[in-house]
Amino acid sequence: MSTSEVFTNRKGPCPCGKGEILEHVDSPDNPWSRVSYSYAVSCPKCSKEWHTSDGRYLSNISDEQARRAAFQEYTAAVHEVEVLVEPLIDAYLDSLSLKSMAAEHRRLQMHLVMPMDIIAYRKQRNAGKTPSQIASPVRNPKWLLELSDRHRRRSEVEPLLKKAEMAEMSYEALKVRTIPISS
Ligand SMILES: [Zn+2]
Repeated sequence: MSTSEVFTNRKGPCPCGKGEILEHVDSPDNPWSRVSYSYAVSCPKCSKEWHTSDGRYLSNISDEQARRAAFQEYTAAVHEVEVLVEPLIDAYLDSLSLKSMAAEHRRLQMHLVMPMDIIAYRKQRNAGKTPSQIASPVRNPKWLLELSDRHRRRSEVEPLLKKAEMAEMSYEALKVRTIPISS
């Protein structure tokens, strides 16, 4: 039967100074299990605002939540653009009568909207996805707008592209405050 030894290190005071940052070390007494570390902030106030996953930095919890929410908004805005332009991209590729998946892949790469390599691309195509569903069209807004003009859809595409761009900027601008743990 294996047992483990748990002990706690004090890593220093919490930001307000009334509590402590604690490191729990779980050290199994067999050679094949790893030592595991977990952390806690013992102060009721600071533990709502800060946490640490590595014992080296405290990260602000509400900043992290805001950043996650901004990321979700950004991906949702990108998805809106993707759904809207799917038929435009498919129509474009159809008009070229490309003979192979490799040719589709090359063409999408030429337009800078295909981050996947050919192996990953084929895998997605064989799983039933269309080229437009695999592409990342927002990587090339200029091309998307040209494509939209051909179908007289710019008035729909442009505002959504703008929205995705703004959402990306807000996401990038959000920083998570951190405090180094001194010990
Ligand atoms: Zn505190």
